[in-house]
Amino acid sequence: MFRVKTQAIEAFLEAARNTFPNEFIGMLAGNKKTQTVEELVVVPAIFGETFSQIYFHMLPLDESIIGTCHSHPSFSNRPSPQDVHTFSKTGAIHFIACRPYSMEAIRAYDQSGQEVKIKTI
Ligand SMILES: [Zn+2]
Repeated sequence: MFRVKTQAIEAFLEAARNTFPNEFIGMLAGNKKTQTVEELVVVPAIFGETFSQIYFHMLPLDESIIGTCHSHPSFSNRPSPQDVHTFSKTGAIHFIACRPYSMEAIRAYDQSGQEVKIKTI
């Protein structure tokens, strides 16, 4: 189980709402050892209606980055095959939010796309 600061969740949901109907994508910073997500990191990215992409080559190297978060402009928060591929390369914890971008609309997944429980702190 990962613990997640409420402010990180709120920042992600707000970004998802603001980017709709395009997808929002960002990174999650925190502590891998204690499995805690502390903040949303907004990174250079393109936001599309069917996919979004982070410019990984423009990212600073930062070991506090422990995962990703992105939104779906649909009512499904299940990862696509492309999502799982990205998860496998970019950290331990990945959030997907779908409409209506409420707390209940977020699911968390591990690197292999398996659902992970999260607890807000
Ligand atoms: Zn997705």
